[in-house]
Amino acid sequence: MLIGQCIYCGVGHEGQLSDEHVVPLALHGNYVLRDASCEACRHNISGFETALLRGGFRAAREAFVYNSRSKSRPQTLPVFDAHGVTDSRMNIPVGDYPVTLIMPTISGPQIDDLPYKQKPGVMPWLYRSHNFDVLSAKHNLTKFASNSLDVRSFFRTLAKVAHGLAVGAFGLNGFVPFLRPVILEPDYPAYSRFIGMIGVQPQPLLEKGFEVEIGVETLGESEYVSARIRFFPELNTPFYRVIAGALPDSSAALAKWKKVLEMPPLDPHEAAPLRIELNATRNK
Ligand SMILES: [Zn+2]
Repeated sequence: MLIGQCIYCGVGHEGQLSDEHVVPLALHGNYVLRDASCEACRHNISGFETALLRGGFRAAREAFVYNSRSKSRPQTLPVFDAHGVTDSRMNIPVGDYPVTLIMPTISGPQIDDLPYKQKPGVMPWLYRSHNFDVLSAKHNLTKFASNSLDVRSFFRTLAKVAHGLAVGAFGLNGFVPFLRPVILEPDYPAYSRFIGMIGVQPQPLLEKGFEVEIGVETLGESEYVSARIRFFPELNTPFYRVIAGALPDSSAALAKWKKVLEMPPLDPHEAAPLRIELNATRNK
């Protein structure tokens, strides 16, 4: 689909725009909006996408052999806080590596539930896979930390994917976008206004990479342009609901959005990195 304008900031000069992968290629994303991001936004976005893909998502990507632009794959991956020693780092051969993947679970999206009845909070969801006998016998490793997830980068990536899906489905002028500040402003604090979890988690998929849906969804009495997104669906990861905007004639939804914009920013407690101390245990 040819856009001809930056979908994030609205700048449009043909020739200075580049193609935009809605879901990162490194997660098997193959849906491209052509001529859809300017250089400044591309730079901004690649900063947080890279932090996620090379940070919290790296071990799972390497362990399950996802796409990578670089041809050479690492022989070892780092384990952090090995033996419980803070800030220590130990390299383990990829075949023995204890894979961890952490994601935030969050209440909301709360756009339809203002003012908040409860302070939104982030709780970690954890996937782990390790072989106790190999770790303890070969590497003397029984205590380590999960890979650390940069929560800001995670939520900004979700917002970016949802916005791109909405542009693809409704056209840049076919909906009123809500997520631009979440995507473009590094310090945007209140993710839970737009991002939350869907109530009933679906079954894991056999496919690798990601699972997305986009459509108009009714929450309360308002209709929103809403995306459902999960990464690594084969690991039964959390499924997120992201409110990308509203149709131009959805006055109830637009009124809710206006209320969000008028609210003072929340403190950024939602954005602290997530990491869990783990003990290796014998698999049952
Ligand atoms: Zn731009």
